[in-house]
Amino acid sequence: MKALTACTKAELAACKQEYEAEYQDFKAQNLKLDMSRGKPAPEQLDLSMPMMDVLTSKDLLQTENGFDCRNYGLIDGIPEAKRMFADILGVSDKEIIICGNSSLNVMFDTVAAAYTHGILGNTPWCQQKDVKFLCPVPGYDRHFSICEWFGIEMINVPLKEDGPDMDLVEKLVSADSSIKGIWCVPQYANPTGCCYSDQVVRRFANLKPKAPDFRIFWDNAYCIHHLVENPPQVLNLMDACKEAGNPNLPYIFASTSKVSFPGSGISMIAGSEENMSDLKKTMSIRTIGYDKINQLRHVRFFHDAAGLRAHMEKHRLIIRPKFEAVINKLNADIRPLGIADWTEPKGGYFISFNSMPGCAKRIVQLCKEAGVTLTGAGATYPYGKDPEDRNIRIAPTYPSVAELTKAMELFCICVKLASVEKLLAE
Ligand code: PMP
Repeated sequence: MKALTACTKAELAACKQEYEAEYQDFKAQNLKLDMSRGKPAPEQLDLSMPMMDVLTSKDLLQTENGFDCRNYGLIDGIPEAKRMFADILGVSDKEIIICGNSSLNVMFDTVAAAYTHGILGNTPWCQQKDVKFLCPVPGYDRHFSICEWFGIEMINVPLKEDGPDMDLVEKLVSADSSIKGIWCVPQYANPTGCCYSDQVVRRFANLKPKAPDFRIFWDNAYCIHHLVENPPQVLNLMDACKEAGNPNLPYIFASTSKVSFPGSGISMIAGSEENMSDLKKTMSIRTIGYDKINQLRHVRFFHDAAGLRAHMEKHRLIIRPKFEAVINKLNADIRPLGIADWTEPKGGYFISFNSMPGCAKRIVQLCKEAGVTLTGAGATYPYGKDPEDRNIRIAPTYPSVAELTKAMELFCICVKLASVEKLLAE
């Protein structure tokens, strides 16, 4: 196979005809597949079904210290759940609050609290002139939606293989007091799958923000979601921040959405004791307490951090072949043509695909018209605007390997067709 970029116009025109015919064949197959979000497959959800049987009407729904989970109370979570996730996140029991069914909800509430009431006695963001967030790109669309909702201006920061461009992050946060936060997915970033290096974590911990109410929004959504047997370790930000004398810098988030049941799991926030007690003020207005019975169910099912990790190994065995199917197809069909690149993550839920500039929207549209819905092009950038129109997030977990193989055949044809159209138009 010859690189498309090295073809003459006549060769490109011939390729276009060939790809168009292949595309029409696919259209005729009436595929219907939704790959727009990173959802666990039904077999993954089945792994947690025994959790439905761990609590019965015959059980005492009590915590280890005898607290009745059926009643109000314990706003920061039951002790055994706090311990299990403190262990996972590398913080102390006092530095974590176990919340409700969604970490996104906790992130939203945390921004909302800063917006209406301010962080640790600082002026509420709504009373400050400008409020800005740094957004490593490509990134997670729902982080960006929270900023957009509150009218927080988003500034793109390139996400490199070892984390955000820290030269730029340091320069911006130390110069501008209106920069109040940065969204980070340090382990297996959504969508690139990259992991932050030790050096990047240390540089985060040593930031000297001009704004006293600047926080690192450290969304550790995929901290135990490995695809490889010897996963990379991301340095503990909380420890690094304490070492640097900046214990209040991070807000750390996680959940069991892709461990147990998305939407019916438990979520958590971690950070310094000072930050946690500050946040509890808002939390205690908002709720009398979260779902402790679900927390108990999770602890009785997983037991401890080791139990959680063992469960994640079962997920790994289900989803790893799906990631391989995607990567193998891209390597076979697209690599030789020199028209795109993509990531090969060691964990998480996504593969980030970069087409030739100006082709992503067209590829997603072509796929959709032939029955495969992908995450909208542009979604991985603030305001839905990918400046180069290149990035597409591939979410391989939900479809079966057979469906995925079919979808990837179509995807590759659409990539080839869109690229050839672009090259012919140049
Ligand atoms: N953070 C990231 C980086 C995610 O990818 C997702 C799910 N796609 C979430 C948070 C959502 O988590 P939750 O279900 O706990 O709200």
